Amino acid sequence: MYLKRLELAGFKSFADRTELEFVPGVTAVVGPNGSGKSNVSDSIRWVLGEQSAKSLRGAKMEDIIFAGSDSRKPVNYAEVTLTLDNTDRSLDVEYSEVSVTRRVYRSGDSEYYINKRACRLKDIMELFMDTGLGKEAYSIIGQGKIEEILSTKSEDRRGIFEEAAGIVKYKSRKREAEKK
Ligand code: ATP
Ligand code: MG
Repeated sequence: MYLKRLELAGFKSFADRTELEFVPGVTAVVGPNGSGKSNVSDSIRWVLGEQSAKSLRGAKMEDIIFAGSDSRKPVNYAEVTLTLDNTDRSLDVEYSEVSVTRRVYRSGDSEYYINKRACRLKDIMELFMDTGLGKEAYSIIGQGKIEEILSTKSEDRRGIFEEAAGIVKYKSRKREAEKK
């Protein structure tokens, strides 16, 4: 499984629809200060379900919608689509390409889609559970994450190993079953 494509529209500094294509192997995003490199990684965490505006470096969720510039009007919604190559079936679905989309309006309503079909945030979380992907997983190592791995509470460290071992899904289902 690898990240194949990222499409941004109205997300932070990306006012116009922007498509980034990736190939297997190492990709580096380079550019001057303020050109939008971190916005690209924010968009990946956001489309995977990030709910905290602060961790996306904003004060409120609306801050991720393009706010306008001297020459351009603000836009009404932000949309990000992340497409993964799934020819190795790392994700438990029968498609060889899986895309997840999230759209948010100024009103704060978020919509989620898997392969263009509307779904719940929960479906996206479940799709990525135990794969190492997902907003809390270890495939996105933000600043400070290494420190967290080295020094946090033993339960938190255990969580990282549980994700890698692929048992988070079962624990989460057990918790739900116990609630009922
Ligand atoms: P550095 O090299 O300093 O880390 P960077 O390439 O990571 O820079 P980003 O932090 O990704 O840069 O981008 C910052 C830019 O994004 C700023 O110019 C900021 O004004 C712009 N920006 C952030 N949110 C919005 C928004 N909602 N609307 C318009 N522009 C935005
Ligand atoms: Mg940056």
